Amino acid sequence: MEIAPGIHTIPSRMSRMYLVEDESLTLIDAGLPWDVRTVFRYVESIGRRPEDIDAILLTHNHPDHTSGARSISKRANADVIAHEDDTRLHHTKGRYLGYMGMFNATDLPLPFLRRTTVSQVASDGDVLPIAGGIQVIHTPGHTPGSACYLLKERGVIFTGDTAFSNGKSVSRSIPFPGYDHEAYCRSLEKLAEMDFDVMCGGHGRPLLGNASEKLRQLLSARPEPPTWADLLLRRLPGRISRGQSLSEED
Ligand SMILES: [Zn+2]
Ligand SMILES: [Zn+2]
Repeated sequence: MEIAPGIHTIPSRMSRMYLVEDESLTLIDAGLPWDVRTVFRYVESIGRRPEDIDAILLTHNHPDHTSGARSISKRANADVIAHEDDTRLHHTKGRYLGYMGMFNATDLPLPFLRRTTVSQVASDGDVLPIAGGIQVIHTPGHTPGSACYLLKERGVIFTGDTAFSNGKSVSRSIPFPGYDHEAYCRSLEKLAEMDFDVMCGGHGRPLLGNASEKLRQLLSARPEPPTWADLLLRRLPGRISRGQSLSEED
């Protein structure tokens, strides 16, 4: 679905991917191995070819956002771009995705374990020559190498699991292994200083207006991100009964 001119969302079964349409196509996150066909089918449905995908920008290296990258990059001959802190450098195999030393790390023919080569490292402040310029914002916390990508001229930001929306308001992720609370709080403050109208999170629904203002409202109303204890003791039973996501706060 096209949510803003040239910005498409492709829901995966576990996360949400985005496609930025320009002369070439840029995929933001790559879903699970079985989402690859969904991506190619979507690309064809808008009259483009899988080979038009030039780059896959990864917001972080959790497998629900990255496990499709290997197959998509092979078929499309696309660059895989991620922040250095969610990658590993092997002395002979080059740089590849790595989360907690487990995922995307070997050549075993298993869905989450296959080594995904990173062709380009993104650093904070870089402006990638994509769709008129996309700025890399390093937002560590959810993972060490979490990054958001800002299309400044269009006022659109891709936030991965650093910030979500239900389409109306902004919410934050709950801690996962590798989470850094202090860094996460600082990263949200950094995002709140920026201006963007549309926020495209890695789960939930995109927020299509006044997104940075809504993030600022959240941080002033509830400065502390949710904790595991909070989720387990107070919110989990209700969420399960309502069929809500377990990855974000209420
Ligand atoms: Zn994540
Ligand atoms: Zn996620």
